[in-house]
Amino acid sequence: MTVQETLRELVAIDSVSQRSNAEIISYLATRCESAGFNVTRLPYIDDHGIEKVNLVAQTSVCDSAAEANSTVELALVGHTDTVPYDPAWIEALRLTEDNGKLFGRGACDTKAFISAALTAIESTDLSKLNKSLALVFTADEEIGCLGAKRLAAARPFGARYAIVGEPTALQPMRAGKGYCLAEITVRGREAHSAYPQIGASAIIRAARLIGRIEQIADELKHDERAGFDPPCTTMNVGLIEGGTAKNIIAGACRLTLEWRTIPGQESDYALDLVRQAAADLHRQDADFVCEIDAARADESFETRADSPLVQFLEVTSAKESGTVAFGTEAPSLIDLGAEAVVFGPGDIRVAHRTGEFVPIDQLNECVRILQHSIEHFCM
Ligand SMILES: [Zn+2]
Repeated sequence: MTVQETLRELVAIDSVSQRSNAEIISYLATRCESAGFNVTRLPYIDDHGIEKVNLVAQTSVCDSAAEANSTVELALVGHTDTVPYDPAWIEALRLTEDNGKLFGRGACDTKAFISAALTAIESTDLSKLNKSLALVFTADEEIGCLGAKRLAAARPFGARYAIVGEPTALQPMRAGKGYCLAEITVRGREAHSAYPQIGASAIIRAARLIGRIEQIADELKHDERAGFDPPCTTMNVGLIEGGTAKNIIAGACRLTLEWRTIPGQESDYALDLVRQAAADLHRQDADFVCEIDAARADESFETRADSPLVQFLEVTSAKESGTVAFGTEAPSLIDLGAEAVVFGPGDIRVAHRTGEFVPIDQLNECVRILQHSIEHFCM
């Protein structure tokens, strides 16, 4: 089966994160088994009671030392879920070709990489491998890399090198910022707005705290990492909600704080600064109360520029390695022992859009690069 036919079949299986990915996993398991891989399904039940499955397909290992601690030499990792699609996009699940591009939900993110990985293994003589190769297919990437985090916690295998499929237009990405969220609730005291002296506005207090957050964001600009745009940890108050009516002093104000950390900076460093600012505001006004709940802390990652995987992919793709600004499963693969690089066909800027697509030439080139990677690292 060609890489395009494979992509067509994968796109036809609806695998938005809200649904179970059991169907696409069963398709991938069959393909991997027929290629001679040993397949392990790692199911779990998500927070909504829906079954999700991670799949690990491995070649049998000739190297007994590696088999003992089940460390694979190279893992090709792709997430099976996609973001939702607009019902008005009637061809979301039907791969359509136009002008050298293949359109469909997931065509770019990240079923193109998965199709390339399947095509690469099916065109490789696995009997020639003397180091083990794994294909790893995960669930729930788009809603917080939840499947990969489960894999990292369960440790069903280790890996020396991992290529994590994401649309990077075939540029190897060796580092990425972390992604963290906190929910902050600032408390006030409700009162009739004609008598502000008997109340305390949570919105005005939140504004004070946001002013401090802006200062913290400015301070964070002094800690720079080369290769990132921008080179510092960034912060954003993306959501705010407070008060109940125009003539009531607001009793509560909630905001969502997001920050993206540079490698080498702990994910809670920025949040600790916010906590200190809140403590400071409380010292100035004992009535100032807020609750800060850390909701998510995805670590940044960095693989050395002189890693054999980075260097190999730089040469083979003829592209210098770079960094990604979006969250990926790379930190989980690093937890599993791997030197990880994010790499794949398609452009992240068209991912998640109605009409996302992968250029056919990049898809074919990805097959070639993955074939070479398997030969280079596993033969
Ligand atoms: Zn993706």
